[in-house]
Amino acid sequence: MRIGIDLGGTKIEGIALGDDAGVLLRRRILAPRDDYQQTISTIVTLVGEIEREVGRTGTVGVGIPGAISQATGLVKNSNSTWMNGRRLADDLPRMLGRPVRFANDANCFALSEATDGGAAGAKVVFGVIIGTGTGGGIVVNGRVLTGPNAIAGEWGHNPLPGPRPGEWPGPPCYCGRTGCIETFLSGPGLARDYEAAGGATLSAFDVAERAGAGEPLALACLARYEDRMARALGSVINVLDPDVIVLGGGLSNIDRLYTSVPRLWSPYVFSDGVRTQLVRAAHGDSSGVRGAAWLWQR
Ligand SMILES: [Zn+2]
Repeated sequence: MRIGIDLGGTKIEGIALGDDAGVLLRRRILAPRDDYQQTISTIVTLVGEIEREVGRTGTVGVGIPGAISQATGLVKNSNSTWMNGRRLADDLPRMLGRPVRFANDANCFALSEATDGGAAGAKVVFGVIIGTGTGGGIVVNGRVLTGPNAIAGEWGHNPLPGPRPGEWPGPPCYCGRTGCIETFLSGPGLARDYEAAGGATLSAFDVAERAGAGEPLALACLARYEDRMARALGSVINVLDPDVIVLGGGLSNIDRLYTSVPRLWSPYVFSDGVRTQLVRAAHGDSSGVRGAAWLWQR
């Protein structure tokens, strides 16, 4: 049995996968905020409950916002800021009495989709969660690529490639830079663009709805969004040449992205043709927790 834990800012989700990848049990609880010790003990309790109810013990993989620094062994880059600088990779295995594997939550997403999701069977997979942010992860031959800085796939804080008039220097980003891909392609980025063009203050979802209803302002906003995504993913294709790019997160539900973006990305890719496929996540919100379980491979 493989147990996956998805450590979110507001909730902690646990899942138990059987040998056939079927879900044996799933549980979602509120995450303690601003309390590292309480976070650890909540995970330990959750794993204990899962094992008691299923009647088996399992391996444990944990998806975290941020990463474990290979330089220090401490959590870094987490927007659950109370986790940063903590020795999670030592403390949790000690409390659980077994080794635990950790990965960034976007890496878990990519692993889940590459294992038995929208990119199943593909050799090189780039997974992106486009929602409040634009996290990314890379899976090669069924394994998460981590890298010495533990940031492989983190494309969201690169500048938007090929900026057009009005896109440079671009909006300020929480990371301290301006014009990051995330400031354009995240849900808040899409909403901001609509508002800046004279639209109302709406969620990205509502902007997409209005585009679907034919509103010219929203259609123009979505067209800009797709061109930006084509440029941003085009540069990923040039570097990584993935077989499949899989989109998750709230904005992955915009149907037209899957036809429009591949139509637009060719001029940005250094190739006579682009065979890379753009697909939607198969496991929806469950990809992160499934991918955490898959950190322990078959
Ligand atoms: Zn940034």
